[in-house]
Amino acid sequence: MRTAVIPERRVLLPTQVTRAQLHGLGSSLTMVTAEGATMGTYWALKALVPDQDGRARCTHCVQAAFDHVVRQMSGWSATSDLTRFNQAPAGTWHSLPADFFRVLQRACELAEDSQGAYDPTVGEVVDLLGFGPRGPDVTLDEPALHNARRRVGWKALRLDPENQRAFQAGGVCVDLSSIAKGYAVDLAADALMAAGVDNFLLEIGGEVRARGCKPDGQPWWCWVERPPAGPDVEALPETVVGLCDGALATSGSYRRYRDARGRRWSHLIDPRTGESLSDDLVSVSVFAPSCMDADGYATVLYVLGVEEGFRWATARNVAALFVFRSAKGLAERGTPAWNAMGE
Ligand code: ADP
Ligand code: MG
Repeated sequence: MRTAVIPERRVLLPTQVTRAQLHGLGSSLTMVTAEGATMGTYWALKALVPDQDGRARCTHCVQAAFDHVVRQMSGWSATSDLTRFNQAPAGTWHSLPADFFRVLQRACELAEDSQGAYDPTVGEVVDLLGFGPRGPDVTLDEPALHNARRRVGWKALRLDPENQRAFQAGGVCVDLSSIAKGYAVDLAADALMAAGVDNFLLEIGGEVRARGCKPDGQPWWCWVERPPAGPDVEALPETVVGLCDGALATSGSYRRYRDARGRRWSHLIDPRTGESLSDDLVSVSVFAPSCMDADGYATVLYVLGVEEGFRWATARNVAALFVFRSAKGLAERGTPAWNAMGE
């Protein structure tokens, strides 16, 4: 006989949320929803607008912001600024558009701060493992992987902030997939706010950012992503975060992986060894003011792992939840900043 497991539900509220943010908005605003595709996944929006035309305006703002990020930062587009930079001759400087430069600069800061656990130059390794533009039908080519691993290293990426230029040392393959989705959500959020939309919930494939509240004055309730179903997963508490102004992102080895040669290869790479990670850490979720930071931190912390990642996040007051396999099944561990949201 099967016994149903009723998971505990934890409700978290970011400590920054104030009563003033949660007020009934009356009936002058209508909730509209919109969705579409971008960056190999879906996007979804809920927004409060004054009239039904608002839906088309919101869709336009959001899609334009996402297309802009793809044009600059996609490794899948042959004509993006990122692809052009990756294919440029050795020893050349390149002027980059403002948003690309900003995201690359943040990626380099995360690389420095994590001492290379996070590294935006993992592109070629990611691609050779079948998670990049060449698609999933790759035969693992060890000599090519060996060479690609030797070329990983953000220190070869020199940035010139004054002139917004970056140096291509030769064969440096930049990959911003770990933060570009978060940045795109931030950019679209800015566009919505500039258009007068102050209450919305926007996501690209699970990287979420919210602003304001729902029509009844409740925060936007977001379920923290859980790994795919399984008996031990069902026993995990459900966690719901009430977002009013802030972002939530998750990195997990279950999100994209392939099984080959008797083992699991996930899309998350340890740049220090060039190896694909698929250990006992299942996922890391992060709450942060911006979606770029939530997205970037989630990747950093996944690579650092439960022990080191917990220390790293705690030292920087990052709100993070680690889900990992222990001897007793799946377990969770929140940093002090994460747990403070439940107090
Ligand atoms: P998802 O794309 O599922 O949201 P992440 O935000 O964690 O997940 O980004 C994972 C992507 O980041 C990988 O597909 C790869 O392109 C890139 N990546 C993998 N490992 C690293 C790393 N150590 N540092 C920076 N980028 C990475
Ligand atoms: Mg990420």
